[in-house]
Amino acid sequence: MTALILHGGAGARRERNYDAEVVHMREVVEAMRARLDAGDSALNVAVEAVAMLEASGLYVAGRGASPNLAQAYELDASLMDGSDQRAGAVAALQGFKSPIRTARAVMDRTPHVMLAGEGAALFAHDQGLEPIGDEAAWFTHAGQGEDNHPPTGLSHGTVGCCVLDAQGRLAAATSTGGVFGKMPGRVGDTPIPAAGTWADGRVAVSGTGQGEYFIRVAAAGQVAWRVGSGQALHEAAQGVIDQIGDLGGDGGLIALDRDGNIAHPFNSQGMKRAWLTAAGEIGVEVFGR
Ligand code: ASP
Repeated sequence: MTALILHGGAGARRERNYDAEVVHMREVVEAMRARLDAGDSALNVAVEAVAMLEASGLYVAGRGASPNLAQAYELDASLMDGSDQRAGAVAALQGFKSPIRTARAVMDRTPHVMLAGEGAALFAHDQGLEPIGDEAAWFTHAGQGEDNHPPTGLSHGTVGCCVLDAQGRLAAATSTGGVFGKMPGRVGDTPIPAAGTWADGRVAVSGTGQGEYFIRVAAAGQVAWRVGSGQALHEAAQGVIDQIGDLGGDGGLIALDRDGNIAHPFNSQGMKRAWLTAAGEIGVEVFGR
């Protein structure tokens, strides 16, 4: 049995058209289904899906990211392998095309979980990861017109993917440009294991929304701990989004368990997302529940 679910951010707003994203998310799911059918690991598939989403320039992550208040592009990403709970992350990374590939390199080639800022960029350079070069030519500013959040006025977007492979392994990966208007050095939930990303032997989770709230409730980890204490996946996932709503935050998350169940609750207007069920059915949604 294999299954996956991905998201392109919970900042979707009703007046915007998401036809291009809907087509693209389906393409990503189809490409990842082929990888899973060929026996690829959950971790590889999660990273490749997020790398495709980053490279498309359609979402507020990777190529679609927007600059912070100092006009710098500081990107965050993380991944987690549920089979051994190894994790890798980068925070406030500047100058490299794929934050998620950089996070993977941190996991595979360092004794650390997270590298931030200049150290992350130096590492990416040493590892031969692909540099952006001309920023003006690279970034697409995909998030213009995404949700705006009173009272902070911050809008946001992220991409993520949770995967169950044929060997029963789970993995999650998440990548973001963060929130618009963020302060230099601001790091959200995305690169923080248990906040924006989680995978263990039971469940994989990737979040999207106002990251400060996801950090405050340990959103992704909390889904896993709720499932571990006996809650059904959809109940656990909804419970965490409700808690974020009670604190005044918004967003959504995707979650997948070892039985192939998927959950994708959100309390924002919409969340771009697509999935492949254990029965082999593909679904794509933005505003529908
Ligand atoms: N969670 C991300 C952050 O706060 C933004 C998003 O998901 O839209 O950086």
